[in-house]
Amino acid sequence: MLLENLRSRNEDTLRLLRRLVELESPSTSKEALDRLAGFLGECLTGVGARVERIPSRTHGDLLRATWGSPGPGQVLVLCHMDTVWPVGEACRRPFRLADGYAWGPGVYDMKGGIAQFLAAMATMRELGLVSARPVVAVLNSEEEVGSPVSRELIEEEGRQSDYCLVLEPAGGPAGQIKTFRKGVGDFRVRVTGRPAHAGADHARGVSATEELAHQILRLHAMTDYEAGVTLNAGVIRGGSRSNVIAADAEAEVDFRVPTMDLAQALIRRVRSLTPVTPGAELTIEGGLNRPPMERTPAIVALFQKARALACELGFDLEEGGTGGASDGNFVAALGTPVLDGLGAVGAGGHALDERVAVDQLPLRAALLVRILQVFP
Ligand SMILES: [Zn+2]
Repeated sequence: MLLENLRSRNEDTLRLLRRLVELESPSTSKEALDRLAGFLGECLTGVGARVERIPSRTHGDLLRATWGSPGPGQVLVLCHMDTVWPVGEACRRPFRLADGYAWGPGVYDMKGGIAQFLAAMATMRELGLVSARPVVAVLNSEEEVGSPVSRELIEEEGRQSDYCLVLEPAGGPAGQIKTFRKGVGDFRVRVTGRPAHAGADHARGVSATEELAHQILRLHAMTDYEAGVTLNAGVIRGGSRSNVIAADAEAEVDFRVPTMDLAQALIRRVRSLTPVTPGAELTIEGGLNRPPMERTPAIVALFQKARALACELGFDLEEGGTGGASDGNFVAALGTPVLDGLGAVGAGGHALDERVAVDQLPLRAALLVRILQVFP
């Protein structure tokens, strides 16, 4: 009954997904994001939500949609409206259906998840199915740039919630649910040296670029694949001309950590670095942006319940993890269990071959309905 209803509305779900792709929404375009928020606000109202639009001056407005009376014991649903694609991408690479997939910028990460969520809520309304708990959905507009505006709201709602469902894409062809995600942070490493003529006065200079090179090697040497810790000096800058000993240099370093303990140990180690070159000055700023989502017993228990529900629906739900973070990391760090990757099954996130498996949309929406009905 549930699955039939969702299958019969899959054409509508795909039409909605097309519309969401056409309403392009890069994290950097407030105008475009606000347009999408307006459209989604109406969609959410149409499936029985009370919708609050939370304005932002710097980023796209946020949406908070509620069903029932939110408060302690509620369930939190997280979606992000922004994508990594610029305006115009949907003209170059328009939404299309081919080979059993829906293709287009943002379909997988994560407009497919939003379409699935709306389909789930529409079906619940139509069939008179009731969520066991009040539902609060937060749709933010700056997830791809670290959620600087919405983090506070997400954490506030996360504290009130007994568990949290994140509609980020499911992992790989098997559509794995994510039960752990690494934490992400960054360091900005700045070196000040002393400029001098590279020909006439070489010995008097202190080379900031040379010092930065030492520090990059030290930082990269802290990568430990076995422990799951990685560092990457992805951007470096420094110096002014080849015939001047460089006065300044800096690096932007991304790091990933699987646990809070490893994060703290790494941050301590990086902050205690000292210059190798006499006369050079070194400053290191930064730290953790999204804390790790660790695979706690509470998260495993949630996964096992979801797996049993998937089994009733006729498919096997697998679990996995990733080095990429999501807003689920913020909520998990509060001690609220999170099931992440409940969105669309597909492939190619942030890539040109981004796609969503059409026949999986009703199945995953049905799983969402069942979770809301019976958890915990
Ligand atoms: Zn995403």
